[in-house]
Amino acid sequence: MTKHITHTGSTFVIGVTGGIGSGKTTVCNLFHELFAIPVIDADIIAKDVVKKNQPALQAIVAEFGEDVLTDSGELDRPKVKKLVFSQPAKRKILERIVHPAVRNEMRVQISRVDKSYCLLSVPLIAESTDKSIFDRILVVDCDETIQMERVISRDRLANETVVAIMKAQASREDRLAIADDVIINNGPTSQLNDQVQLLHESYQDLFNADN
Ligand code: ADP
Repeated sequence: MTKHITHTGSTFVIGVTGGIGSGKTTVCNLFHELFAIPVIDADIIAKDVVKKNQPALQAIVAEFGEDVLTDSGELDRPKVKKLVFSQPAKRKILERIVHPAVRNEMRVQISRVDKSYCLLSVPLIAESTDKSIFDRILVVDCDETIQMERVISRDRLANETVVAIMKAQASREDRLAIADDVIINNGPTSQLNDQVQLLHESYQDLFNADN
């Protein structure tokens, strides 16, 4: 992907994606530790925008009723998940409420960045159609057997559960097809440093940065 001609902000946005356990968090942490690059996490934003008293939560309640709240007034995530699971129309309504709120908050956080570029970690870039927020896409990739071992040891999940999660995500090929840059994470974490360093240098060149 080339830089957007319409890019008007002062910060360039690298979308970081990869399958579960591929190493997105590890890679983002390295950019932050080595070069103080800001990392914006879509998962955290998605949880924050539906917190108590947030407009998106009020809109969800207006649409689906108080039943989707826990006794303490928080969003009952398992209940909502169940509700929309087999009902695509309801899922669409939910997405129409949550997605704009997430995108808006992403833009707010991006606007506060005082570096030439930032990372926006989004597990599902390959699955979503709107990629307009990103200037480049960085895919963290690793062999599926390694990916499974890492998820099982991190999350203590059963083999079958991890397989099911991986199946529900975009395939490795689909992810690689949208990549501008790729970090291969098959080796020890020490091998990530060099790759991160090289990419950082190329981003600095690309974005004409002096910070
Ligand atoms: P993601 O954010 O993509 O789900 P993580 O960065 O959390 O993936 O990595 C998944 C797990 O694998 C974590 O426990 C992490 O510490 C571990 N891990 C990541 N990269 C490596 C590596 N190169 N070598 C060993 N363990 C790794």
